[in-house]
Amino acid sequence: MITAEELRQVQIFECLEEPERQRLAQKAADVRLSPGDWLIREGETSSFYVILEGRLGLSKDILGRVQEFTQYEYKGGDFFGEVPILLGTPSLVSLKAITDCRIARFDRQQFQALIRDSEKCSAMIMQKMNERLGRVQQFAAETPPSRVLIVGSQYDLDCRDIRTFLSMNRIPYEWLDRDNEFDRIPTCMPANLQGPAVVVDRAFWVPQPPTVRKVAEALGLRTMPTKQHYDVVVIGGGPAGLAAAVYGASEGLCVLLVERNAAGGQAGTSSRIENYLGFPNGISGDELTERAVRQAGQFGAEMVLTREVGNIESMSMPDGGPGYCVELDGGDRVTSKTVILATGVDWRRLEANGVDRLIGRGVLYGAARTESPTVIGKDVFIVGGGNSAGQAAMFFSSYARSVTIVVRGAGLELSMSQYLIGQIAGKRNITIEPFTQVVSVNGEDHLESICTTTSGEAPRTRKADALFVLIGADASTDWLPATLQRDERGYVCTGRDVSDLPSWDGKRTPFLLETNLPGFFCAGDVRHDSIKRVSSGVGEGSMAIAFVHQYLALDSPRLRAN
Ligand SMILES: Cc1cc2nc3c(=O)[nH]c(=O)nc-3n(C[C@H](O)[C@H](O)[C@H](O)COP(=O)(O)OP(=O)(O)OC[C@H]3O[C@@H](n4cnc5c(N)ncnc54)[C@H](O)[C@@H]3O)c2cc1C
Repeated sequence: MITAEELRQVQIFECLEEPERQRLAQKAADVRLSPGDWLIREGETSSFYVILEGRLGLSKDILGRVQEFTQYEYKGGDFFGEVPILLGTPSLVSLKAITDCRIARFDRQQFQALIRDSEKCSAMIMQKMNERLGRVQQFAAETPPSRVLIVGSQYDLDCRDIRTFLSMNRIPYEWLDRDNEFDRIPTCMPANLQGPAVVVDRAFWVPQPPTVRKVAEALGLRTMPTKQHYDVVVIGGGPAGLAAAVYGASEGLCVLLVERNAAGGQAGTSSRIENYLGFPNGISGDELTERAVRQAGQFGAEMVLTREVGNIESMSMPDGGPGYCVELDGGDRVTSKTVILATGVDWRRLEANGVDRLIGRGVLYGAARTESPTVIGKDVFIVGGGNSAGQAAMFFSSYARSVTIVVRGAGLELSMSQYLIGQIAGKRNITIEPFTQVVSVNGEDHLESICTTTSGEAPRTRKADALFVLIGADASTDWLPATLQRDERGYVCTGRDVSDLPSWDGKRTPFLLETNLPGFFCAGDVRHDSIKRVSSGVGEGSMAIAFVHQYLALDSPRLRAN
């Protein structure tokens, strides 16, 4: 417990009367840290901290990389937290104990009472706050705007994939369109280079030809598992997979998450998720993802990106217990007692002439936010009448000259949420074309026009700069073991749907999210009969972990990773 006498030793409290110090001491939390413990992490809500003993180091995430600022060490007598509290922001930096530390922590109300009741304390705090804000200003001026420079054409598929990957990982990049901004291309770039070129941290040229994986590696993102054996391998880094990774790691399991592209899944491409609990103003998919990835990392989940799982086989573990061998593209393998499949769904293909030839060249599946600069002032078409199409229309309408939503049915009422229909109605540059289908897409090198038919009318060809296809999605599960039970559309069956199958061994009832292969669980959109929502994916991912625990407990000593 912190005493008034201990507070008196700290400069900021010297000026207080004894009864005030007594009051504060009674309310202060006595925080003790060992070397390496975090006091606060960047992005968290701050309290007011006064350091009594020990030393803490300051670090900050700069463009996706954590940088330590050794020149700003905190020690006995220093205080921290006034800037985020007074500005109403999350903490701008992280503080970690270098030595054993003892810290008095005050909540927001106690801090506010302190600056209200003591002029001297208030003056000291404000002076310190001004100093720190000056540093923030200097820091903002000195920080480069991006870590990655990409030079490439708008219609180059590798260039688009790299941009999408960086955007989904919230890594700031600068893209120079080789065809339209040649005067800005750095002179150090080889003149005869074909295809895109990527420079990381202004110094490192990603080897030619640059790929998403090479860029990820150049940025220091993990693309290889570090262990041979895990308690649980989670396949897919959408909301379901991320929730499984967070809950699994936070509950002490050794977790590997494998994601073929960037974490976030479909939700990561959503410009605004408005129905996720706790975010009354909505939250963008990439922000939700960034928070979840940070959380999973803090709990120690291992996440490898740009790696696709191509095969899973049942096997006997070295200790004789059952398990799975999970094979990544390129042949790398890991073993695990349990698997959680959270691979979501893939966009359904549009049946119209010319589509395959122009994919990535104006015709796009989904609606990545990275496309916003490419549609400025252009005429954009969106095929589909669901919420994802509505969100895409709203998002692109702030950039494009016109957005036309093409729907086969009578309108949006049956397929889109009312709040989106209302928002779309308020946008003058969005038009809805009911009873309409795209028959063909045309263009030499990239999309130039589309031909549509509207019931009862002659086909119509119009200029089109971009066509976003969001007509629903299907499960892509052909690569999974043939013995894994799926429904006729490829969605994976679990729980009651597999308990009576001959392929279930019948010795116990399968867990709710367990497939017909014991210890092989499934969560989120890829699961048969699941509710296709972010919140249900998150719910199922976390529930799957509870079942993993119960499964491992069936034969606990042999089923745990060492
Ligand atoms: C544009 C858009 C807007 C949406 N808006 C909302 C909304 O506002 N509210 C809402 O509740 N829902 C919304 N949804 C639906 C919601 O995003 C999905 O229901 C949710 O993302 C499903 O989560 P999931 O984890 O099951 O799958 P997904 O999000 O699809 O994630 C699956 C992940 O698995 C990866 N993967 C697939 N196969 C492999 C493999 N073999 N190896 C490794 N990785 C693999 C994929 O790359 C992907 O990242 C929206 C969807 C879209 C497309």
